Amino acid sequence: MTLENIWQSTLEEIKTKISKANFTTWLKNSKLVDLKDGSATIALPNNFAKEWVESKYGKTILGIIKNLDSSVKKIDFIVSSNFFQENNKAKIPLINNKAQIEIELSKVDPETNLNPKYTFSSFVVGSSNELAFAAATAITKNIGTKYNPFFVYGGVGLGKTHLIQAIGNEIKNNFSNKVKSKYVTSEKFTNDVVWAMRNKRMDDIKKKYRDVDVLIIDDIQFIGGKEKTEEEFFHTFNALYELNKQIIISSDRPPRLLPTLEERLRSRFEGGLVAEITFPEYEMRLAIIKNKLIELNQSISPEIADLIAQKVRRNIRELEGILKQVILYRESKKIELDKKLVEEFIDRLIKTESINTTPSKIIKNVAEFYSISPESLISQSRKKEYVEPRQVAMYFMKEILGMSYPSIGEKLGNRDHTTIIHGYYKINQEINKNASFNQKIMTIKDLVSKG
Ligand code: ADP
Ligand code: MG
Repeated sequence: MTLENIWQSTLEEIKTKISKANFTTWLKNSKLVDLKDGSATIALPNNFAKEWVESKYGKTILGIIKNLDSSVKKIDFIVSSNFFQENNKAKIPLINNKAQIEIELSKVDPETNLNPKYTFSSFVVGSSNELAFAAATAITKNIGTKYNPFFVYGGVGLGKTHLIQAIGNEIKNNFSNKVKSKYVTSEKFTNDVVWAMRNKRMDDIKKKYRDVDVLIIDDIQFIGGKEKTEEEFFHTFNALYELNKQIIISSDRPPRLLPTLEERLRSRFEGGLVAEITFPEYEMRLAIIKNKLIELNQSISPEIADLIAQKVRRNIRELEGILKQVILYRESKKIELDKKLVEEFIDRLIKTESINTTPSKIIKNVAEFYSISPESLISQSRKKEYVEPRQVAMYFMKEILGMSYPSIGEKLGNRDHTTIIHGYYKINQEINKNASFNQKIMTIKDLVSKG
């Protein structure tokens, strides 16, 4: 494997473990620049990124690289901007010479910010996304009039970005430049507004966003709580809405669960069509694998496809990531893979993120760790010794199983989703600020993964 191959494989795997925003922010401009004498050198474009990646992802990266090349014992992170010029435009082949699997970097259309790879035709439809898909296609035929705004929500890696960008691409193809679409992440929108306020260029921003026919905003959950941007977003939203322009929004949760969102904005969102995307069933996972293989111009045996569909249960991004890994693995072994080998390989990839975990196993294991009964864990009692284990169970149901807040609530004694969100954030916060708590969570996670 070349350095580039190793690094691409590593990135593919990291992608399945961290949020897209974090990935883009910290790792998109990274590079493996050297690998010798048991140490791997990774370059990052600035010191801030270096320190962040080193402390937050250092261990994970080492683990992944070790799996690919067992001679690696340590990683050195360096700062270097030299490595990052002109790289962006190229398609980086993942496999030496063959270049069958490619990661397409910035093919994004600068006018619309849309990535042409996200289309309806590459979007597999099943029960987990059929309502959202039906609405999305209807919108392209009734822009601004039928479902406005269109609000789609669901967990990480389930196809929200794909679907909402596909709407934009479809419109772009059908109406060329007559109907203007614009895609932004809510982070980008926030940055624009903050920049404009600082530079007294608010009018530019207003024009930029209000001058479109279809405004697509991804991951709106990040906008809440920033007063000025929310305000500006609301004005933009209203201005567009009143002109019958189409607004499309994605979020990781439904409007009513966006904690800091202003009421008027929330009710506007709810006034349109709200559709959820959930985790796909086995059949659909298999269909996605087959579809992806065609896209990649690759094939694997039905047995292996079945195995991947069985084992990968977190999200579609992970499904794709692992499929690519398996293909690369075969490439490196230069033999047809047998089931057992692949099974071990996937297990290693998924590692502690257990594939056999279920909500009740999580409850059982967490309760066991804290030496309480599973009944107490899900009981209504607010005793201190039950609260932490309960919240930890919430956390794992979200992290490992990717369940929705309402369904976690259901499993944990019919609790309200707001309680679950609170619990989940509480644990997340604690993990970030308290190293020994983090250690504890890792230990429990290990137990949970072993079932
Ligand atoms: P989200 O925005 O919900 O986090 P993405 O839209 O980024 O998820 O999807 C993650 C990956 O899975 C993308 O590569 C996307 O193309 C793929 N994907 C998601 N849903 C589907 C689907 N229904 N059919 C085919 N590919 C999908
Ligand atoms: Mg997304």
